[in-house]
Amino acid sequence: MDSSPTQTQREKLEAWLRYYDDLNLGAFYTDRRTMGKRSMKQAAASAPAQTSATIPATQAAKPPVAPAAAPILPQKIAPPVSVIPVVNASSLFEAIERVVGDTLERIREDLGDCTRCRLHKQRNKIVFGAGNARAELVFVGEGPGRDEDMQGLPFVGRAGKLLTQMIEAMGLTREQVYICNVVKCRPPENRKPEEDEVATCSPYLFRQLDVIAPKAIVCLGGTAAQALLKTKDSISRFRGTWFDYRGTKLLATYHPAYLLRNPAAKGEVWKDLQKVMAHLGLQPKKTSR
Ligand code: URA
Repeated sequence: MDSSPTQTQREKLEAWLRYYDDLNLGAFYTDRRTMGKRSMKQAAASAPAQTSATIPATQAAKPPVAPAAAPILPQKIAPPVSVIPVVNASSLFEAIERVVGDTLERIREDLGDCTRCRLHKQRNKIVFGAGNARAELVFVGEGPGRDEDMQGLPFVGRAGKLLTQMIEAMGLTREQVYICNVVKCRPPENRKPEEDEVATCSPYLFRQLDVIAPKAIVCLGGTAAQALLKTKDSISRFRGTWFDYRGTKLLATYHPAYLLRNPAAKGEVWKDLQKVMAHLGLQPKKTSR
């Protein structure tokens, strides 16, 4: 039987390598004696180059698929003999990351009166998320602003009003969708959340998404997309492209706050939302003239 990896298996393996490289875990699953100090990136780079014709459209943009979503080490690829045992990689992740019997209430309880990162010091209210716990569509923003911090609710300020209009233009209401953020406490002066703050808070977001299990996730802005896709790429590189996040379709579009500053980008966002509507089988809201 031919045991050489297929193109798809090779792509998955490369995504897996990149993911471990991003986590800075080091080459623990390779034969260190033969690997020496070669980095994962070098290892992946030494694999035969992909041609754009062989990369599926949904993966052609740079960010890798989400961690637990896709990079499944193909069983057919025999590991080097001295490799540290590789357990079935996908189920290992599933077991670690999915909390059996989880609920939004339990996640909120676990979050408690959180002091896990410095953002708690200046917050007024934790902004956990709001909307339909069984929503087909989840919007993920960056973090609460001033109005959200005061009210304990996501997207209730100016950007929130624009988001509401976007949701309604899609033929939905805010009550039908779920809205949350990467970090649950307002960063001072609305600065971008720092890497360690995102790392501390995002597991609660991952659990929220697992519990809701929507049909589509829309990331509003780069921070949300980078947190879920584990990439540092700029959103402009992959906006409007579908990705797989743990089996759910994920698309990133510009943040409503960006649209307030750059109204000309609204057209691009509307195109992105139309893709989401097509996936969800939604008709745009009819406007009365
Ligand atoms: N911006 C965000 O990213 N989230 C909010 O909840 C409000 C503004």
